[in-house]
Amino acid sequence: MPEYRYNVITNRWVILAPQRGGRPHDFARPDGERCPDYVSQCPFCPGNEKETPPEVFAVRPDQSGPDTPGWSVRVVPNKFPFLKFDGHSPTSQDIAGAQKAMGFHEVVIESPSHSNDLPHLEQKQICLCLGALLERYNHLAGRETVKHISLFCNHGRMAGASLLHPHFQIAASTIVSPRLDGQIEHCREYFTANGHSVFDKFIEGELKAAKRVILQNDNFISLCPAASMCPLEVYVIPRVSQPELGALNDKAIPDLADILQKILRRLDEGLNGPAYNLVFHTAPVDYDGPREAFRWYIQIYPRVGVSGGFELATDIYINSMAPTSAAQFYRGENEE
Ligand SMILES: [Zn+2]
Repeated sequence: MPEYRYNVITNRWVILAPQRGGRPHDFARPDGERCPDYVSQCPFCPGNEKETPPEVFAVRPDQSGPDTPGWSVRVVPNKFPFLKFDGHSPTSQDIAGAQKAMGFHEVVIESPSHSNDLPHLEQKQICLCLGALLERYNHLAGRETVKHISLFCNHGRMAGASLLHPHFQIAASTIVSPRLDGQIEHCREYFTANGHSVFDKFIEGELKAAKRVILQNDNFISLCPAASMCPLEVYVIPRVSQPELGALNDKAIPDLADILQKILRRLDEGLNGPAYNLVFHTAPVDYDGPREAFRWYIQIYPRVGVSGGFELATDIYINSMAPTSAAQFYRGENEE
């Protein structure tokens, strides 16, 4: 029997219908073909630095000059941005709701390797990459016009990647999406009514159930939420209340790198490199609610299911895989 499940963090419903779908390995790609390690025409590969806009941040262990080879992580403005800053304040929208898409759109090139994505990078390199994301988050959050910062990775064509060289994107916008506004409001109302964080309630429930937790360490917990939107969805949540990513302590980065590497490696090896999106959900830059009410978190959304008209019409996703089976897959246990 399909069932409705409510996600207390997002205030959204899903329909869990595992009888419609399969087990985790049924979603494996037929081929696991890998990219070459270097592609001479790729603008993100070393030697092609002039093919991108000038870098705004880089880790250069050899002290090499900007926009030359020798970097470990490199951040550049997106050559074809969907948000752009023209030096002026945002203008009010016209009667049709149109206004300039103001903001900043940057690319974080994860490593010089064209083929080594997050699951295949050494943890030290993942730490450098996460450190660059944090650095740019804090820089962009200081820009006067920025209201919200999205950080995400589109891995594979099915996830929206146009360039295959592994990279994150950062989009700093001058508006906050209605969906995030709604989620923040929901979390604040919960905190006011109950005196504790909805995230604490959520984590407590999952720890008690114990079936959907994947990995934990001193700073983070990872799990497949009971109301997963899609097969193999994962949340990685800090243990302490931090509304915005900028509050992340540098010392916690290795713990985050460890969890991300293990989960993404399992996904990659188990299903032959499926496409996925990795998204940071973080509070608006000017969030002024209680610090305990909201918490940034990571959502990993494998592109192994298909959504259709029902999802478009209702915003209620149908998930064909039990989150308990998904968690077993990530833990490397036999599936139910
Ligand atoms: Zn490349």
